[in-house]
Amino acid sequence: MNHKNSHQTILVFDIDGVITHRHQPEVVDSILEQINLCCLNDFKIYFNTGRSQEFCLTKLFPKLEKYPDILIQNPVAMCEKGVVKVKYTNGKTIEQIDTKFSILDYENQILHNTDLDYKSFFRDKTKVSMLSFEKFPESSYAEFEAEILELLEKIKFNIDNFGLNNKLSHDKTKISLDIQHIQAGKDLGAKEIISEVENFISTEERANTRVYTFGDSPSDYAMAKHFKQAGFVVTHVDVGENKEIAKSHGFRIINLKNTFEDGTLGFLAGIIEAHLS
Ligand SMILES: [Mg+2]
Repeated sequence: MNHKNSHQTILVFDIDGVITHRHQPEVVDSILEQINLCCLNDFKIYFNTGRSQEFCLTKLFPKLEKYPDILIQNPVAMCEKGVVKVKYTNGKTIEQIDTKFSILDYENQILHNTDLDYKSFFRDKTKVSMLSFEKFPESSYAEFEAEILELLEKIKFNIDNFGLNNKLSHDKTKISLDIQHIQAGKDLGAKEIISEVENFISTEERANTRVYTFGDSPSDYAMAKHFKQAGFVVTHVDVGENKEIAKSHGFRIINLKNTFEDGTLGFLAGIIEAHLS
């Protein structure tokens, strides 16, 4: 079953809610064990997250040290929705920031006249290209929702007022709010991943290469859409609870009954089983 150097299956993981514990931002070891097994069977793996490179450098890459078959691939994590690339090579990480997608130059305008004295969330200062606000784990979802929508209204007013609508967009989830470059997104991350994939899969081979994208949010479908448009055979695995936006663009969608880490774990066990049988 081992076809060295021919990776015909690619797995692309969102991080939060997919390979982390559902209530805390810690990567689940049993998922990494399964991913390691996938790598041993010549699956190629990538991470595509909205998290910062600092998150990957402290919460993801140190954990990978235990998994030699992942490390041997020199894994790549696209962070901050495609704007920051972190590559692990021979025990070192290399970070690249695409500064044209940074919006921090507009910080003063975006936050003009806003008071950030909120109780349910904090600003994630580790982000180097976007403004991010994250729910405190101990705050209730209802309290966060009320406060973050209030902040978002003020920010939207500022974006409008300073004429920044053609440069900035926002992405709100159950636990966070990002103010980001209009082109930042899971599709930008996917685009960068494709440029890495080109090192070993030619454009002609794309139609014979299966890509599984894993996500828990509607915004994660953008990566499946992008891989599909680039000519790959794509399946999107949705492990989220909120699945109403399942609009297909020619790729297969698998809506798992088990959600978050349980969904990812079960699905990976299933594809390894299918691959080995
Ligand atoms: Mg997620």
